[in-house]
Parts: sequence; C-alpha cells; structure tokens
Amino acid sequence: MSETTFEPVPAVEPAEPPAAAGTLVMKFGGTSVADPEKIRRVASRLVEAKRAGNRVVAVVSAMGQHTDELVSLAYEVSPQPKPRELDMLISVGERISCALVAMAIADLGLDAISLTGSQAGIVTDTVHGKAKIVEVRAHRIHEALDSDRIVLVAGFQGVSTEYDITTLGRGGSDTTAVALAAALGADACEIYTDVDGVFTADPRVVPGARKLHAASYEEMLEMAASGAKVLQLRSVEFARNHGVRLHVRSTFTDEEGTWIREEDARMLEKAMISGVTHTLEEAVYTVAEASPADLFETLAEDSVNVDTIIQIGSEIVFSAPLEDRTETVAALERLGARWSARDDLGKVSIVGAGMKSHPGVAALTFSTLRDVGAEPRYVSTSPIKIAFYLAHDEVEPAVKALHDAFDLASPEAERQHA
Ligand code: ASP
Ligand code: MG
Repeated sequence: MSETTFEPVPAVEPAEPPAAAGTLVMKFGGTSVADPEKIRRVASRLVEAKRAGNRVVAVVSAMGQHTDELVSLAYEVSPQPKPRELDMLISVGERISCALVAMAIADLGLDAISLTGSQAGIVTDTVHGKAKIVEVRAHRIHEALDSDRIVLVAGFQGVSTEYDITTLGRGGSDTTAVALAAALGADACEIYTDVDGVFTADPRVVPGARKLHAASYEEMLEMAASGAKVLQLRSVEFARNHGVRLHVRSTFTDEEGTWIREEDARMLEKAMISGVTHTLEEAVYTVAEASPADLFETLAEDSVNVDTIIQIGSEIVFSAPLEDRTETVAALERLGARWSARDDLGKVSIVGAGMKSHPGVAALTFSTLRDVGAEPRYVSTSPIKIAFYLAHDEVEPAVKALHDAFDLASPEAERQHA
C-alpha cells in the first residue's frame, strides 16, 4: 500500500498552455442534484456561466442520499465489504449525476462532456475510502475546454497509482473541486450547496445565527474540523495550500454566500470570534499506560483521523470520528493496551481569528458555561479555537449561550467581503 500521510502540496501539472483567465470551477452537492428537475436547474446554471464567457468545469456529488444507499447495499450483501470493491461501488453515484447533467446541458444547446475522476486525471494514493490526491493530470480537461465544452467531473473519486478506483472520503467532492481549481488555475472555486453559506452557528440550533461574508482559511479549517459540515476538511486544507479562494453559496438563489480566503484586518477587528460549532459525531477514548508513540503509530497504520489529544499522567485521552470506530477499535486491540470509549460526549468549539488579539475569550467562555450549568470534561485549544467536550444534553444550551455571550447575532458578526 502506498500511502501519503498528508497532502501539503500535491503535484499539480502546470497548465499547458497557461490557463486562460475566466476558468470557473463550480461544485454542486447532493441536494442540488437530488432529482431530474434539480439536475436541469444545475444545467441551466452552468450554461449561464458558460454564456457569460467562462471556461466552465463542474464537479457534482451523487444525487441526494445515493452514496448512503450504496454503502448500505454493500453491507446488506457482505458484513465486511472489501475496501477496493466498496470504492468501485460507491464511486458510481457521482458518475450517474454527472452524466445526467451533461445530457441536460446538451438539451439546452451547448456541448458538454462528463468524465470520471480517473478520466479527469485525478491520481491518488492507494488508501481505499480515504485516498489522497497525489497528482492532477488535467490535459483531457484542457482539451475539452479548448473545444468549447462544459466539462463535468465526477466528484469524490480518482484512480490510484496502482490503477484502482479510489474514493476521497465522505464529502470528498469538495476536494475534487478544489484540486481541479488549483490545477486549472481557476479564478475561484464555487461550492453550491443547500445552505446560504457558513453561519456563526448551526441555524437549526441558533435561529438568530448570521451568515458570514468572509472567513479565513484557518478559521474554516477549525470550523470544518469541529462540526461545520458545509465543506470537507481536506478541501479547505488543499485550498489554503494552493491559495484557491472558495465561495460557498446556495444553489437555489443568486445571493453571495461566504468567501473563504486569506485573513485580512477586517476579520480581526469587529468580533472576537467568528462562530460556535458543535458535533455529536466523535467518540472519546481513554487509554491507560500506553506509550503515546506506539499508540498513535498504531492508529495511523489504520488511517484513523485522530482529533483532540490530551495526556493526563500515564493516561491518554483522544477523540476520533464515529465513522472511524471499527479501525480505532482494531488498532487499540492490536496494541493490547487497556482502553475504554465513550460516545455520550459532544464537542463544542468557538473559533475566531480575532481571538489572537482580544484577551478575555477564555474567561467569557467558561463563565458562560458555568451559567448554563455545563461542565467541560476535556478542553483543547489552538491560537484561534477553544474546544471542549460536554454531555450530549448540555451541547445545545451551551451553543446558544455562547452565541449570545459573544454577540454573534449582531450584524457586525457578518464581516465584509469585497
Ligand atoms: N457523495 C459523496 C458523499 O456522500 C461525496 C460528496 O458528496 O462529496 O460523501
Ligand atoms: Mg458535502
């Protein structure tokens, strides 16, 4: 197995001839292509962008919940589907939606071509289910663009250095789009989705949450790592490393959404923090008397995405996504350490570039938690984040109270982008 442990700057073939200005990568999520009517709407949107003079590359996700259905189907057939075959199966969803969009574009009188990840030149390592892009060979896309076509690329997939079909992890179409934007030297990467942008908190929990006009790459990385589902974490990393500006916006309106880009002074001025995120989808593991080096090496061998790590004496506490549970348990068993797991904790994070220059964020955070009777079990921080684990039923009250305490429902919280 050839695995890349991280993908700071995957090789991106220089565009030959240099990419023309006006290349636009537009990515549409599953809800945006959920039925035939929506597929036709996406097609018109692409045609509009093309008629406005852009070279248009579109990346589409599988229709609606199709990927989930394919995954369930696999487990109905086999208790432990082989990762290679699982990738072969679940990569199909994106092929279906991109072929359908190409058909709908043809009906609108323009030329379009759909490509699988492999045909589009997306080369990955060989880690099935979580492959990382190692190279983008974009010549076929360039050729199609040069002959005036709209190019549809199946998201979420590539071909490995051993010529197998791989997938990029759930939500991976975002990463496909960003990688293509980098490889093609696109002006921007537009992520079309069923929400209006990135919010100061989940609007289902905090009805007064505001849409941010702008967020820095670092903030978005922290938010994506702490429960904001709007972008796959790896896509943000990729965008930051290649300086690709992202525009997260609604498929169903023409309104501007949220721009993700380099930090600027306006992000630091107004609000101390940019948002409160939460997730219930992590498990917290406690391991007694293991060497941290052995523990994390073993977890890495099984490609477990470890998040928070806390060492207390000889005990190590770490968190990992619920979806990595099988691999985590397998790794811990192999290690032979004493361990326990709990999945009754949720993680709440407050994130903001302004934290670096405003004292008092921790004081306000913990006094707010005390006032709603929430008891942080574990705490971890970065220069622009404070995250803590709470009992599940304390999570929503804490998110609401923190949103209030940091005044995030005020118009100031939105920031500016121009
Ligand atoms: N269809 C894949 C998923 O559901 C990839 C994506 O939507 O980005 O995870
Ligand atoms: Mg997504």
